[in-house]
Amino acid sequence: MKRKNYDFIICGGGASGMLLALHLLQDSFFEKHRILIIDKDSKTTNDRTWCFWEKEAGPLEHLVRYSWHQAKFQSAEIQQNLNLKPYTYKMIRGIDLYQYALPLLKDSKQIDWLEATISNLESDMNQTLVHTEKGTFASSRVFSSLYNPERVVHQKKYPVLQQHFVGWIVETENNCFDPEQITFMDFDVPQANATRFMYVLPFSPNKALLEDTFFSAKLLPKEDYEDAIRAYLKKIGAGRYTCLEKEAGSIPMTAYPFQQHNTSHLLHIGTAGGWTKASTGYTFQQTLRQTQRLVQFLKHNTPLHQFYKWDKFSFYDMLFLDVLEKHNTRGADLFTMMFRNNPIHRILRFLDNKTNFIEDLKIMRSFPLGWFLKALWKRLT
Ligand SMILES: Cc1cc2nc3c(=O)[nH]c(=O)nc-3n(C[C@H](O)[C@H](O)[C@H](O)COP(=O)(O)OP(=O)(O)OC[C@H]3O[C@@H](n4cnc5c(N)ncnc54)[C@H](O)[C@@H]3O)c2cc1C
Repeated sequence: MKRKNYDFIICGGGASGMLLALHLLQDSFFEKHRILIIDKDSKTTNDRTWCFWEKEAGPLEHLVRYSWHQAKFQSAEIQQNLNLKPYTYKMIRGIDLYQYALPLLKDSKQIDWLEATISNLESDMNQTLVHTEKGTFASSRVFSSLYNPERVVHQKKYPVLQQHFVGWIVETENNCFDPEQITFMDFDVPQANATRFMYVLPFSPNKALLEDTFFSAKLLPKEDYEDAIRAYLKKIGAGRYTCLEKEAGSIPMTAYPFQQHNTSHLLHIGTAGGWTKASTGYTFQQTLRQTQRLVQFLKHNTPLHQFYKWDKFSFYDMLFLDVLEKHNTRGADLFTMMFRNNPIHRILRFLDNKTNFIEDLKIMRSFPLGWFLKALWKRLT
């Protein structure tokens, strides 16, 4: 029988919910706190692969399945071999995080894990109520990673693109991959009136994950992505191949201010909290950082909506998305300009929200000034 009141309730035990719970568990400050995690799913399938880059060993180093120090950027105009060092590009499989975290969370006396579907969250002056088919639960500090696409689609102020993709893990007859080098973006593929590239994570000379990826507004029928992967395998001389696993995703790319839905007693986290980098769809590293920051924040009993911090990168992302939406067929050109005119380390720092103002200017100088000035003017008027 679950209690009805908790110190913290985490709605959604995916990446952000699990990482938040793990950080809370590791911090003795919270050892007397009772935490409820609610997820509708048992988290037993490998439903996604997370990649991110960092310089040092991170807190989830033991879960890193593959890592690389070299990358390739390709478009019709340029091909660049990029040395990522001192950065390492790392890959964690969803299932490996779930299988590591679930026993720790479920065996902890502090935590109750409830498999249930949340139908509604209701915040008032003192608490947030979480309604499920298995009961209603209350806490003065509720964290929700339940992403509600309705909120972002029913507004016109901020364009909403998606990073949408289908990925196949394949084993090929021929050795057609360089296991030392990822393909960060290969734009030398039919653009289909959008921004489209192939992303390749090689595991061995004949095994890799290939993702046909778009930055655009409209999703495609599954066959279109799969045909593109088939065509790409043919182009690189894969020979016969077996598809071992599939994954698919659609990650919102928008500068929509998700923080407006936070209250003193309800904080949105993960993609639902706007932790996805709007211009790229990368979320995982930001989620690691934000959950660590959140655990420190929670020690001060401050109203939850005060957790949000504006930074200049949100503004850059907004302008970039305005431009990418308006010139969606020119995404390959935009990224080619960025990679041609900047060293990879500056690009990685910029995409990681770590550059200083001088570096920001250098990145911005790579792009057609007129497009960005028009976007800026539209935002200001
Ligand atoms: C296939 C895929 C690959 C990705 N790859 C990368 C990558 O390489 N790098 C990167 O940085 N980001 C990547 N992302 C983006 C992002 O990192 C992930 O989506 C990440 O899982 C987001 O974490 P989250 O906690 O916001 O959402 P989720 O991990 O999706 O967690 C939300 C949880 O809420 C639960 N839930 C939803 N609705 C309800 C409900 N009504 N009641 C109860 N529970 C509910 C779900 O079951 C889920 O467990 C990828 C996303 C996808 C889909």
